[in-house]
Amino acid sequence: MRAARYCGPHDFRLVEIDRPVPERGDVLLRVRAAGLCHSDLHIIFDELGGYPVPAPLTLGHEICGEAVELGEGVTGIELGRRYAVFGPVGCGNCRWCRSGRDNLCTESRWIGIARDGGYAEYVTVPAQALVPVPDSVSDAAAAIATDAILTSYHALLTVARLQPGEGVAIIGVGGLGLHAVQIASAFGAVVLALDIQERKLELARQHGAAIALDSRQLDPQNPPLDRPITLVADFVGTDQTKLLAQQLVARGGRIVLVGLGSVGGPLLGLRDVSDEIAILGSFWGTRQELATVLDLIARGIIRPRVETHPLDEILTWVERLRAGEVESRVALVP
Ligand code: NAD
Ligand code: ZN
Repeated sequence: MRAARYCGPHDFRLVEIDRPVPERGDVLLRVRAAGLCHSDLHIIFDELGGYPVPAPLTLGHEICGEAVELGEGVTGIELGRRYAVFGPVGCGNCRWCRSGRDNLCTESRWIGIARDGGYAEYVTVPAQALVPVPDSVSDAAAAIATDAILTSYHALLTVARLQPGEGVAIIGVGGLGLHAVQIASAFGAVVLALDIQERKLELARQHGAAIALDSRQLDPQNPPLDRPITLVADFVGTDQTKLLAQQLVARGGRIVLVGLGSVGGPLLGLRDVSDEIAILGSFWGTRQELATVLDLIARGIIRPRVETHPLDEILTWVERLRAGEVESRVALVP
């Protein structure tokens, strides 16, 4: 079968490999769509400060697939049904899994990052990773629900505890950030969207941002919102945007960091201490939240913005995402 594999830093290729066979507890999925995430670029272009990613490895951690074969011992999965894949699927037994924070399980082998993922015709995943896709949700929407939408939901609602009526700045309104804009406004926040590309700002306005602005034109001391910005969500994560978040956040506010644009970062200053700024990391999301997010999509509360292209074009789309030429999210279809 065809697969797009990471073979080491700066070496990502389309190759032919054998179709995987489901081991005990696993399910073989025929991939219907797999979303392209900026994290794939950080892996391919070695931007994670030496974070160990095994090679060769089929990337693709946003997967929607159809169950076609069950490994030994699997129950409760229906052949022919569509499932969304919960990428950071946990062991099910540790204190994180038992308390519902399965995204923090230290035994997890993240699908598409630590074990083979969805840029292929088929993938095997643990049965516990599968969440049924509602009929009204498309393959591509279900695929990007598993990260672009799940991660945004988790960061804003679970980690940062977004409150209705508060002023929220979203820095970087690409694949994740555009969905964060939708989620924040759907839950009653007043959103300032920041990016460096006019096309993304335009989309953010169409998806609920009260104001959308080029971050380079912003005076962080005087943000153009009618209320204090008590929550800043950074979906870029470079030193520059982390500093902007610190300048922008109001007294007593929170910064939630999602973007992985730089591995270090500016230190907390006197102002962060004296104004009691909370700085929060946020990682992916939980399995329970994935089910919630799929339901929000089915009910039309979140409208996934995704375009589909053939898997054979993945190398082109990697370059286009890197050049900032993807409108929101691309999903590859084998
Ligand atoms: P993307 O490329 O689709 O979007 C990034 C957006 O940021 C683009 O619209 C770009 O124009 C904008 N941008 C770049 N520099 C900017 C700046 N200086 N100021 C304002 N905007 C700027 O990327 P994505 O797939 O949405 O991923 C965003 C980040 O989130 C990546 O670093 C990715 O690795 C990370 N991520 C983290 C998690 C997590 O669990 N923490 C999960 C998924 C992705
Ligand atoms: Zn991702």
